[in-house]
Amino acid sequence: MTPEHEVTGLLIDGRRAPAADGRTFDVLDPSDGSAIARVALAGEKDVDQAVAAARTAGTAPDWAGMRAADRGRLLHRIATAIRYQGEDLARLESRDTGKPLGQAVADVEAAARYFEFYAGAADKLGGTTIPLGPGLIDYTVLEPIGVSGQIIPFNYPLQNTARGSAPALAAGCTVVLKPSPEAPLTPLEIGRIALECGLPPGVLNVVPGDADTGAALAGHPGIDQVTFTGSVPTGIKVAQAAAANVVPSVTELGGKSPFIVLADADFDLALTAILGASFSNAGQMCSAGTRLLLQRGAEEFLDRLVEKIAALRVGPGLTDPDIGPLVAARQRDRVLGYLDLARQEGAVARTGGGAPTAPELADGYYIEPTVLTGLTNDARCAREEIFGPVVTVIGFEDTEQALEIANDSPYGLSSYVWTRDIDRAMRLAQGIRAGQVYVNATGVGTGVELPFGGYKHSGWGREKGLAALASYTQTKNVCIGFGSRP
Ligand code: NAD
Repeated sequence: MTPEHEVTGLLIDGRRAPAADGRTFDVLDPSDGSAIARVALAGEKDVDQAVAAARTAGTAPDWAGMRAADRGRLLHRIATAIRYQGEDLARLESRDTGKPLGQAVADVEAAARYFEFYAGAADKLGGTTIPLGPGLIDYTVLEPIGVSGQIIPFNYPLQNTARGSAPALAAGCTVVLKPSPEAPLTPLEIGRIALECGLPPGVLNVVPGDADTGAALAGHPGIDQVTFTGSVPTGIKVAQAAAANVVPSVTELGGKSPFIVLADADFDLALTAILGASFSNAGQMCSAGTRLLLQRGAEEFLDRLVEKIAALRVGPGLTDPDIGPLVAARQRDRVLGYLDLARQEGAVARTGGGAPTAPELADGYYIEPTVLTGLTNDARCAREEIFGPVVTVIGFEDTEQALEIANDSPYGLSSYVWTRDIDRAMRLAQGIRAGQVYVNATGVGTGVELPFGGYKHSGWGREKGLAALASYTQTKNVCIGFGSRP
């Protein structure tokens, strides 16, 4: 670590602050392991302060008294500022996470779209009236739920910050957001941008830290709702901590999503799609289509896929390769462990299968993009989330068998179906137990408008789309009697 790195402070109540106990951590460039920033590490006291700031801000007139239309305008300003500073944000995101620059540029656009989308929703959160007859009027009001504690993972820090905070702010809530220690830089930038756009101090607080920081936030008695994105074991702990305070949680967890290719599919389209759906961000995507279910008769698809994957360029994110490094050494080692396990389970790597050997990549956290065959759906590598650029190929005979294999998973986050036959497509779309089904489509726009969340161990609650607003509002029913009643 070089001494010239200044400590980037926590963002609490509109001010940058060191951690109360002075702790810091280094943020590493995944392409070579060098330190690129030193960031304050929030402890319990800092979480207390951030929650207190959010509670105070939530009832202060400059936020609680702001008209919904003005909140919307403010969110629009944030969206515009994100786009305006997009180049810098994309470079920072690419450097921090290792993702290819072009993908970071797309993340900037998605982040701006979240603010834009929910800006439009801010003044449309109306209630209903309920007919009760003469002398009674009953109506409902959607009130902000209060302080939202948000805990996000390392893979899409920019998008996840926007995805959680924009609907919360649109609903009039305040937020304490804890980014991952592996990728805290762009969430802090979004906090800065929001302040510069006029968001009152304390409405959006950003407290980077580790598991203890997250636990302090999830179990804090001063928060009213938790939005968690991350792994299943952590999600369970977070949900339990929230439940102990009787506050609701949204848990957006992992996946092992099926990418189903029938023999009649348009292979050209499906090939382009699988590169995005399974190998973007070096496969570090909850929604990644990592189980390629291939119908007998579609072997040509596999040959063409292997050829394409073998030709992908691996390199530092800022050089905009096809595949960047994984976010951290621990993630690379975890994936290497799964590749060893796959071999023990009888897998054959049709391409990839380890860390690249090129000397210029030796210091980075790289994994070769990999296609595994020879496994069945009961292998651990076909059931557990590997979180790297690794796809497992499993064969099937007909639609019913595809459905059975697709649903034979502890997860149910996303799914992808490729066929020209409408009956088969509909059978699969209706039968798959997952929060999202894409038929002959994937990566539509930035996906901001589409409700997103899991079945089974992929979690509960929905983010994105109008559905997300339900997590940040609560319904008050008001029943008024007047005059003489029968
Ligand atoms: P993780 O569960 O290890 O960590 C997620 C966040 O929780 C981090 O900020 C971490 O510091 C914090 N944390 C860790 N222990 C905690 C605790 N006891 N209490 C509170 N917070 C705690 O996950 P990760 O390795 O950062 O991310 C990868 C996982 O995230 C994968 O499983 C992936 O599928 C999932 N993910 C899901 C979605 C989705 O929308 N469903 C999106 C992105 C990533």
